Amino acid sequence: MKNNRKVFILLIGILLFSISLIFFFIVMNRPLRVPFFDKERAYQDVIAQTGFGPRIPGSDAHQKTIEYIQNELIQSGWEVEIQETEKMGHPIKNIIARRGNHSNWIILGAHYDSRFFADQDPVVSKQTQPVPGANDGASGVAVLLELARVLPKNLNKELWLVFFDAEDQGKIPGWDWILGSRVFVESLKGKPDAVVVIDMIGDADLNIYREILSDQAITASIWNTASRLGYQRNFIDQQKYSIIDDHLPFLESGIHAIDIIDFDYPYWHTTLDTLDKVSPVSLSVVGNTLINWLLDKTIPY
Ligand SMILES: [Zn+2]
Repeated sequence: MKNNRKVFILLIGILLFSISLIFFFIVMNRPLRVPFFDKERAYQDVIAQTGFGPRIPGSDAHQKTIEYIQNELIQSGWEVEIQETEKMGHPIKNIIARRGNHSNWIILGAHYDSRFFADQDPVVSKQTQPVPGANDGASGVAVLLELARVLPKNLNKELWLVFFDAEDQGKIPGWDWILGSRVFVESLKGKPDAVVVIDMIGDADLNIYREILSDQAITASIWNTASRLGYQRNFIDQQKYSIIDDHLPFLESGIHAIDIIDFDYPYWHTTLDTLDKVSPVSLSVVGNTLINWLLDKTIPY
């Protein structure tokens, strides 16, 4: 009788232990919930930025955008630093948000400045006006800000979101392209595993071709993710342009980097790059692709 009781207690013990073990493995291996990219909230970020006016360096709109980005990031629980430096005699302010502590280090970037002159405008008299930059500037920032809000904290990555200053001022006396990302890379300590720059990704007619200079392994993995999500009409699996963009300084210093850009945009560097050209759906196509790629375990580096 006594022995039977011991066996019974032992069996109950084994049973409870097994149940907790099974429970533990279920919890540990549970896939990360894929967050919801709120395209309307991202579109509000485009409205806010264009509402400040053209974000040309030195303007009030430029400064208000820095404060807006910084506030949104802090409210979403990110550690934020403004890198204040100079390049070619111009003050540069890059906004850097960091989260996570892991050996796998990813940087996502977008420029927040808009161009001094709409030198591609079909109306010659408008070519000295600034570019409103709804797509060229505000769209990339909007996608990064919505990612900042919805990405899970336990991503198993060190993730940086970097908002580059002074990307868009090339072919203007005293200026050049990509000044913000140049100083950023010059001061960068360590080597991120992958850098993904997004630029001009809000066009309602979204055609993103593989950018020629970009790291092809990262490009392939992101285009694969997009295709798995049904976005193969937006992420076209074909090379088309090579672009001077914020991925270049990284590539030049041996860092795997890519540019996601839709360069088939008829309003590029014109006064017609306005809010009505940007579609919330396009923002979500790029946002969802990046979320799923970050959650994916097949990131090549
Ligand atoms: Zn531009």
